[in-house]
Amino acid sequence: MAIKSDVPSAIGNTPLIKLRRASELTGCTILGKAEFMNPGQSVKDRAALFIIKDAVRRGALKPGGVIVEGTAGNTGIGLALVANALGFRTVIVIPETQSQEKKDMLRLAGAELIEVPAVPYANPNNYVKVSGRLAERLAASEPNGAIWANQFDNVANRQAHIETTGPEIWDQTGGEIDGFVSAVGTGGTLAGVGIALKERNPKIAIALADPMGSAIANWVDTGELKATGSSITEGIGQGRVTKNLEGAPIDVAFQIPDEEALPVVFDLLEHEGLCVGGSSGINVAGAIRLARRLGPGHTIVTVLCDYGTRYQSKLFNPAFLRGKDLPVPAWLERESTIDP
Ligand code: PMP
Repeated sequence: MAIKSDVPSAIGNTPLIKLRRASELTGCTILGKAEFMNPGQSVKDRAALFIIKDAVRRGALKPGGVIVEGTAGNTGIGLALVANALGFRTVIVIPETQSQEKKDMLRLAGAELIEVPAVPYANPNNYVKVSGRLAERLAASEPNGAIWANQFDNVANRQAHIETTGPEIWDQTGGEIDGFVSAVGTGGTLAGVGIALKERNPKIAIALADPMGSAIANWVDTGELKATGSSITEGIGQGRVTKNLEGAPIDVAFQIPDEEALPVVFDLLEHEGLCVGGSSGINVAGAIRLARRLGPGHTIVTVLCDYGTRYQSKLFNPAFLRGKDLPVPAWLERESTIDP
C-alpha cells in the first residue's frame, strides 16, 4: 500500500468483510463495509472530510477558522481530527445522552465540547439548532471566522458517499451486488451509496434499516413521518426528511427493534472478532432481513459504522442493559476460572 501523505488522505478505502454467520444463516453473501477502520473509527470521517474540503473550496473556511457542529459524536470526532491535521479548530455541541467514550474522545481530539439536554428537533434548544446559532455568533466574533458544518442539510455529506463509499463498494464487489442496507442518521450514507449504486445498476435493492423511535421507515411506507418506541443505539434514527435524505432511492424499509439488533452485535464480537456499535447491529439485522426477502444466492452489503469500544459503558455494560430490559450475553459477565 502506498504511503498516505496525512491523516485526511487515510480516510476511506475501507475493507469489505464477509459476515460469516449472517451469510450462513441466509444462504446469501453478506458483507460489512468496515468503516470503523477510518482514522476516527467511524463512517462519519468521510462526511467530515468532504464538508471541510467543500467549505475550503468555497472560501468559507479560512486558515485557523472554527468549525462548529451539532453531532451525536462521530461527525465531531471526524471533524476534530481532520481540523487538527489541516489547521482549524472545532466547537462541538452534543446531546448529553451520548456515550461518555465519544465525549472523552472529542475532548482528547481538542474539540471544545458543549453538552446540551437531549430535546426534539422542534425545540429551539435542540443540539442541531444550538450549533447553528453558535456558528453564526462565532462567524462574527472569531478572528479567522467560523462555519457551521450542518451535516444534516449540507449535501457535501452525501457527496462523500456518492464519490467514495458507493464506488468503493461497486469496485470491491466487481459489480456483483444485489442489495445495500443502511440506517439513517443524516441520511448521507444511505442516500449517497444508494445514488451511486443505482447509477451503476438500477436493479440493486436499496433498503433502510430503521431503529425504533425513528420516523423514516413509516415515511417510506406511508409518506407520513411517524415514530413509535425507542432504541439505545446512537447516531441513527431521524424525525424529518433532511436535505441529505431527500430523493434517496429507497426500495424497502425495515424497522428493527434493539432486541433483534443487539444479539447480532454480541454474536459478531463473540464469534467473528468484530467489535462494532449498535447502529452496525441494526444494519446487519437489516441485511439479514433483506437476504430473507431476496432469497439465497444474493450478495448484500451493509455498513459497520463505528467501533464498539465507543459504547463500552452502555451497549457492553450488563447493568446498563438490564436497566433497559435488554438481553445480556453470558460472556459479557464471565470471570476467569484460571488460578494464576
Ligand atoms: N451510525 C453511527 C454510529 C453514526 O454516528 C451515524 C451518523 N450519525 C450513522 C450510523 C448514520 O450515518 P448517516 O449520518 O450517514 O446517516
